[in-house]
Amino acid sequence: MVGGVVLFGLKFMAIGSTAYTWLEDALETIQRAHWYRHPQIITQGPGPKIELEGQRLINFASNDYLGLASHPHLKTAATKAIAEWGTGSTGSRLLSGHRQFHEQLEQAIAQWKGTEAALVFSSGYLANLGTITALVGKRDLILADEYNHSSLKRGAQLSGAKVINYDHGCPEVLTDLLVQHRDHHRRCLILSDGVFSMDGDLCPLPQLVPIAERFESMLLVDDAHGTGTMGKTGTGCREHFQLPVGDWIQVGTLSKALGSLGGYVAGSTALIDFLRNRAATWIYTTGLSPADTAAALAAIELIQREPERVAQLQHNVDYLAKGLERLVKSNFRRSPSNAPILWVGAANPANALEMAKYLRDQGIFAPAIRPPTVPHSRLRFSVMATHSPGHIDQLLEALNRYYLHQSPP
Ligand SMILES: *Cc1c(COP(=O)(O)O)cnc(C)c1O
Repeated sequence: MVGGVVLFGLKFMAIGSTAYTWLEDALETIQRAHWYRHPQIITQGPGPKIELEGQRLINFASNDYLGLASHPHLKTAATKAIAEWGTGSTGSRLLSGHRQFHEQLEQAIAQWKGTEAALVFSSGYLANLGTITALVGKRDLILADEYNHSSLKRGAQLSGAKVINYDHGCPEVLTDLLVQHRDHHRRCLILSDGVFSMDGDLCPLPQLVPIAERFESMLLVDDAHGTGTMGKTGTGCREHFQLPVGDWIQVGTLSKALGSLGGYVAGSTALIDFLRNRAATWIYTTGLSPADTAAALAAIELIQREPERVAQLQHNVDYLAKGLERLVKSNFRRSPSNAPILWVGAANPANALEMAKYLRDQGIFAPAIRPPTVPHSRLRFSVMATHSPGHIDQLLEALNRYYLHQSPP
């Protein structure tokens, strides 16, 4: 036992130990497993080039897929909103924090996504927590892709529903589980990432939609990485698969390709109306700030007006994927989707760290992704529309040197 002994049923603290001593032990364990992480200060950016601890690096670690976080149109919109409305929304949306610009943004999202309505949350994480816990409870069933984002997993746990994971991207296993379990529960909710955030592959949306219908289940797809990146005009995975809008629930973030901060849910009028009345992470929190709201609205306008940004991003993804295919065949599996997340495998967490360090010494910023975030360690690359061919070539050349340096992959 840690930090004390038990005698005659009474616990005595070891000398010098407090109720918080276990924190240091836990950190030590994390360190030993090479799982320890800490944030690093970026001193210049955002953009395809950043400065990190005095070093200029080409950035392959950003979610700013379209380069909008530094776009003058968004900056102007945000500063204008601050000048007019101040820095805070000053209250929750149902009390005193609701403004015209919130409605404008929600209408713009709904129109862009082709749904009846939309609702914005303070983050994508909170959109998932609030929506899942509002839609299902103890008598209900959740079927979730095993690789889902933390916000879907935590939302499922918090809801109190029975949660069963299905094999990643596998509609057959999902169907079998529904045959076995669906009838024993009141409501059912299927949860999946649209673009999987660590793997960059897509959910089998064309199969998930009819499965949900067949088993009278709700379907929630979290398109955090697909929003602004997938489909011809960047509206997301639905457009990529050329599916009709349907009544399933589309969640996403304003914080990645849209260059702002916040999350959204898009769907039917009834769904959105219900969430306004039941989603605790929307009701009991302050409305999105004027600057964040205005920036997100400006981003959606810009993407609609200049869809060539999305095309440029997809072109860059293709360019990097082809380069990786040539270079590291055995450790790289290309997903057919052109999603802006690519990765190469590493043998173990220490090896992933070593690769990341090598690349960094070569002027490339690409993060090592390790357990518990993913089951298998890897080096992950996020592509931006604002990467030049030269930036991507430098990544490929640095990786090439790494593999020449090492025993072959
Ligand atoms: C990033 C991400 C989120 C969280 O979005 P935030 O707006 O950053 O809170 C949710 N789901 C997925 C799949 C993500 O990748």
